[in-house]
Amino acid sequence: MKRVLVVGSGAGGAAAARELQGRFQVTVLEAGSEFRPFTTSLRVPEHAKRAGLLFDPREISLLFPAMRVHMTGEGMAVVRARGTGGTTTIATANALRQDQHFRELGIDLSQAFSELEKSIPISADHGHLWRPATKRCFSTCMTMKLDPFPTPKMGRFENCRNCGRCVLGCPFGIKWDSREFLREAVARGARLETGAEVESVVTSGGEAMGVMARHGLKRSFHPADLVILAAGGLGTPRILVNSGIEVEPRLFVDPVLCVAARHPEAGQNREIPMPFIVQRRGYIVSPYFDHLSSFFNRTWKQPFRDIFSLMIKLADTPRGHVEGRSIRKSLTPEDHDVLSEAVGLCTDIHSSMGIPGDKVFLGTVNAGHPGGMLPFTPAEARTLHHGRLPGNVYVADSSLFPDSLGNPPMLTIMALAITISRRIDCDQL
Ligand SMILES: Cc1cc2nc3c(=O)[nH]c(=O)nc-3n(C[C@H](O)[C@H](O)[C@H](O)COP(=O)(O)OP(=O)(O)OC[C@H]3O[C@@H](n4cnc5c(N)ncnc54)[C@H](O)[C@@H]3O)c2cc1C
Ligand code: SF4
Repeated sequence: MKRVLVVGSGAGGAAAARELQGRFQVTVLEAGSEFRPFTTSLRVPEHAKRAGLLFDPREISLLFPAMRVHMTGEGMAVVRARGTGGTTTIATANALRQDQHFRELGIDLSQAFSELEKSIPISADHGHLWRPATKRCFSTCMTMKLDPFPTPKMGRFENCRNCGRCVLGCPFGIKWDSREFLREAVARGARLETGAEVESVVTSGGEAMGVMARHGLKRSFHPADLVILAAGGLGTPRILVNSGIEVEPRLFVDPVLCVAARHPEAGQNREIPMPFIVQRRGYIVSPYFDHLSSFFNRTWKQPFRDIFSLMIKLADTPRGHVEGRSIRKSLTPEDHDVLSEAVGLCTDIHSSMGIPGDKVFLGTVNAGHPGGMLPFTPAEARTLHHGRLPGNVYVADSSLFPDSLGNPPMLTIMALAITISRRIDCDQL
């Protein structure tokens, strides 16, 4: 059987591995180790912050090794997870179809979406978990004619403990993440190698022979007939550049800014994040207690149960680059204009809930949806294979997105990875 290496086990990698195992012998190479949620009491980071020990978001990996933060020159914290399940393990489990850019290119993901919606438990029936402040906020948004809708979420939320720790990894196995697809692939014979950080694709005569990977201090060659790169919107461009394949300086990250205020006993820090969404042109707004800001931002003060925060997630201009370990990304004047409009809207929502505008405070700008550095164009719509890649190398993650979504991308990344995997003809390799 032909051998395929899938690089990364997040949304794209796990979906591709599950799809390809059987037709191929799959090996998943994952840089991180087995994912473990952060189960320590939140009092520990709270004490550490009070003692002045937490001041840089990058320190998060000392507390929670799976979570990695890169700071851009402009002070934006770009967050991802490293380990089995990739960033899906720290996601808030929102499941939205966001394929408008692919439809415009003539790429149809609808079959894969339907199948995903059958194999993953997805439901917006979690109103029983909403605290009074969230219910009030939803009614306020309705009154303001903002068309809020309960967020479809992946998982078995009927058993959710409403602990509010989704972004730290669910300690109770309620929320779905891509380790479920990974386990299915492994149960059907796929191999999983953790601690294997792929550096480059090794080619000869225009075809990939395999990849070079680092295992601690050791480097080794992994042969393959087919290579699927799904190391995420930051990891995949690094591998491509190391392999001499050109990428585009079109990095987007979907920046997040929280607009918070004190609403006594809101309890949002112990509630499912992003229970509902308001869609606006160029951004979304959703209730979200920002643990990163509570750990590192000095304007976020105790008691945290009194903070009620609205997240803005921006569809930023695709302009930025990954260079080695550093990320070059800054917001354009247009991005800042949209962000100001969104801050104004969130301030209005707080005001309508009885909190004056001068009492709101902001969180730390962070981002967790990188992509866009090998964007699909109409030229790839038929083959789903990017012309810059060797014939037997495919990308299956958000690097292929032509534009930022400003919306949860996970379901769309998986639909894309499945559709691409199906298009690969085993006999033509
Ligand atoms: C806090 C947070 C909350 C989020 N919530 C949501 C949400 O509710 N809904 C939603 O749709 N999206 C959400 N997202 C975004 C979503 O999680 C990501 O967009 C998605 O997981 C990206 O999938 P991916 O396969 O491209 O990359 P990832 O899931 O990041 O997976 C990449 C994998 O590749 C591995 N890797 C990287 N480099 C290498 C290498 N060189 N060699 C081998 N392995 C490598 C990584 O360790 C990782 O496991 C959230 C993101 C964050 C940060
Ligand atoms: S809020 Fe629910 S899904 Fe999120 S971490 Fe807690 S138990 Fe898990």
